[in-house]
Parts: sequence; structure tokens; C-alpha cells
Amino acid sequence: MTLSCIGLSKICFLLSVTFCAFLLLLIPKFQTTWRHRGYPQPRPPPPFNASCKSEFHHPQAEPSSTGHLDSEGTDIAHSVKDETVEKWGDYSLHAGGSSLKLEEQDGSPTSPLQIMLKDHHGPAGDSTKENLELKDIFIAVKTTRKYHKTRLDLLFQTWISQAKRQTFIFTDWEDRELRLRAGDHMINTNCSAVHTRQALCCKMSVEYDKFLESGRKWFCHVDDDNYVNPQNLLHLLSAFSHSQDVYVGRPSLDHPIEAADHVRSDGSTTVKFWFATGGAGFCISRGLALKMSPWASLGNFISTAERVRLPDDCTIGYIIEGLLEVKLLHSPLFHSHLENLQRLRGESVLQQVTLSYGGPENKHNVVSVAGVFGLQQDPTRFRSVHCLLYPDTTWCPTKNIL
Ligand code: UDP
Ligand code: MN
Repeated sequence: MTLSCIGLSKICFLLSVTFCAFLLLLIPKFQTTWRHRGYPQPRPPPPFNASCKSEFHHPQAEPSSTGHLDSEGTDIAHSVKDETVEKWGDYSLHAGGSSLKLEEQDGSPTSPLQIMLKDHHGPAGDSTKENLELKDIFIAVKTTRKYHKTRLDLLFQTWISQAKRQTFIFTDWEDRELRLRAGDHMINTNCSAVHTRQALCCKMSVEYDKFLESGRKWFCHVDDDNYVNPQNLLHLLSAFSHSQDVYVGRPSLDHPIEAADHVRSDGSTTVKFWFATGGAGFCISRGLALKMSPWASLGNFISTAERVRLPDDCTIGYIIEGLLEVKLLHSPLFHSHLENLQRLRGESVLQQVTLSYGGPENKHNVVSVAGVFGLQQDPTRFRSVHCLLYPDTTWCPTKNIL
């Protein structure tokens, strides 16, 4: 009896040891499953051009050294790689915020500016109106030698004619004809005439310095394929005070980007921020521009961009949202050719702050305006828009039908 009891205890002991050993063997498996759930797994480094608009359509234009992220290439942890170009069209309608959805779905007369301000919960949205005049705005147009004839001429004929004293052309070549036309409003940046991150940051750096020097209240940047509606721009900026911190424009992504912080740390920490795409144009108040100075003035912009390895428009977002912790005001009134511009039609085209066009590779991506010039005569639609806004222009047809 005693013997069989001892035998039973031995069996029980052996069974528990076996069970424990079995459990121990299972632990690593549980650990892996848990880890997978708890932490995001590292992704392969995305191509550099995925991060910001400037490189989005020109992967081939990046020099090979920056064509892909280098050893420190995990800079942009959350890249746009998965966001295909097709998604842009979708974004312009839906992910851009409830404001645009509202505006386009019911065509209601609610001003897009009011909707935008309502959506913004920061101090800038609560501001009282400023008695702003066009002369208080500094509009920087970024261009390059090869686009002086093909793109700039159209801008001079159209919107620049209405905002000559506000507009400054930033280029990379001493063009005698352009100098005669623009005088000291043409700025030869002496930056190189290539579409690289460094060259574009060089131009942005000069734009910023010239703006500070000008003493004006607002800095607005646009590309040479943007149409600016000066009256709508004035109306938008009048809603704020230039001494507040205001950064307004349109993001090209539906999420903030995340970059390794090489300015405040050695790059081991990351920072998440939104940025306004340069191809749609954006504006910065003087108050905020002054605060950016340690990272942006007198060549510091170029070194900041180098340190974070981001294109010009992303670097602006990094300084403002990432370093200064001022939020971008997401506006549906700015437009780049990364969106589906055909969705903008009729009267609403005339209410926007900026427009753009698709260019030769995507010439159907233009705003829809009818009744002035045909597509052959006016492939960008800028002339038609201009005649609808300023029908008295000498070269506009006398009778316009919308
Ligand atoms: N640009 C420039 N240097 C270049 C190529 C382009 O300054 O070598 C300017 C161009 O004038 C425009 C902006 O960069 O204002 C964007 O260029 P583009 O529209 O050709 O390209 P996107 O990035 O919009 O596809
Ligand atoms: Mn463009």
C-alpha cells in the first residue's frame, strides 16, 4: 500500500516535470507572437522620392546618391510608398478633411474659408480680422531657366498682371528679357538649375531671406505652374493676424510624415509632422517666419534640410510643426496637380486661392471651365479662368458664358 502510494507520487512528479518542460518549450513561441503584436516591425527603407511632392513625379531626377535612403535612410519611417498616385485623386476628395467633402458634395454656398476655420481648433482660427492689403503679401514664384518661356509667360499674362507689386520671381539664370519685364522683382538665386533636393532648398532659402528683408506681413510660396487668385488669397489671409503663428496650405498626404530627428537629437528619435505641398502653394505669417529664423535664415535652411534630408516643402513643415510645434492649417483652397483637378468645376474654380495643371504627361488633369477658350487654345485652362475673373483683359473674348 505504502509502496504503491510512493509509486503514484513518483508518477505524478514525473508528469508535472514533463508538463513544465513542455510549457518552457512553448515560451519563445508566445514571445514572438506577443512581440509582433506590440511593436511595428521595421520596414524596408522607402525610396526618398516617396516623401514629398517635389520628388513624387520625378524619381529619375534625383541624383543616385539620394535616389534611395542611405544608411541613415530610415529617416522617413512612414513613407508614401504605399500611397499610390491613384490615391491622390481619392485624397483630394475625401481624406483632405470634411471641409472639402462638404463643399463638393452638396455644392452649398458655405465659404470654404469658413469651413476651414471651423475645422481648425487652434488660436489662429479664433482671430479677429486684420485690415490686410495686397501690398502686405510677398508672393514668391519658384522657377528655373527652362520654364521662363513655357510657364512664366503665361503667369505674367494672367494672374501676375493683377499682382505685379506682390510677386517676386526666384530663378537660377540671369535672363535679360525677364529682368526687363520684372526688374528687381526677378531674383537670381544663383542656385543650380537642376531638380534636386539641394537646388530646390537653395531657392527656398533665398525666398525666405528675401521675404524677411521685405518687411511684408505674409510669405506665400508658389510654383510656376500655379495660378494665384490674389483677391481670394487676400481674403483668406485677412482672417488672421500676421503676428500670430500661421502656416496654411494643403498637405499632399493623408497622414503626417515621420522623420528621424537629426536636429534635436542624433537621429535616434523621430518626429511626426504635416507639411503643405509646395506644388499647391502655402503661406506663412511674419510672426511665425521670424520664429523659424534659427533654422531657416541666412543659409540655415539649407543646413536644416541637409540634416533631416528632406525636400524644401517638407523641411518647412519639419521646422514649423516638428520644431516649433505650430500646426499646419489644412486648406482645401490650394491645389496642386497631384490631385484630380477635373473635380474643380464651374463657379467653385473661381473661389480657390491657387490652381494648377497637369503638364504634358498628364494634360487632362486641368480644372473644368467652359465657354471661354477651347482646350487647344488654352490647355492649362489658366487663360479661361483669368477671363472669367477679369473679363476686361484686352485679350479676353468680349462675351463670356460660364
Ligand atoms: N524647378 C526648379 N528647378 C528645376 C526643375 C523645376 O526650380 O530644375 C521648379 C519649377 O520651376 C517648379 C517646381 O520646381 O516651380 C516644381 O517643378 P515641376 O512642376 O516641374 O515638378 P513637380 O514637382 O510639380 O512635378
Ligand atoms: Mn508642378
